Amino acid sequence: MMCWSKTKHAECVERMFTLCLAKKDQRILHPPVILGHEYAGIVEAIGSEVKNVKVGDHVCIDPNIYCNECEACRMGKKQSCENLKAIGVTKNGGFAEYSIVPATQCFKIKDDIPFEWAAMAEPLACVVRQ
Ligand SMILES: [Zn+2]
Repeated sequence: MMCWSKTKHAECVERMFTLCLAKKDQRILHPPVILGHEYAGIVEAIGSEVKNVKVGDHVCIDPNIYCNECEACRMGKKQSCENLKAIGVTKNGGFAEYSIVPATQCFKIKDDIPFEWAAMAEPLACVVRQ
């Protein structure tokens, strides 16, 4: 049972519908962090400051949380962020019924896009940016 009151002002609670197991997940294993960085679901609750999504929205997740302050971030090379945090790597991820994530990492998708496709947004973005 999820306790919605633990949601911070700028976070969303997402109910998981699809997630992918990536080769990377096998290497991560930093217990007690919950793995899963490629997933999609439905927003179940939002904090008071969240504006970009609402309850009931279908969303996919960008797991990469950049600091926006280091030299790499300031130069527009966020993929090299010196203080990178990632959902499912350094913060709890999607291998759970519910996931609490910063709202800035949630991206609304159309309701008719299958969750299986939406969960592939992150690996697709990695390939496109290479
Ligand atoms: Zn940075």
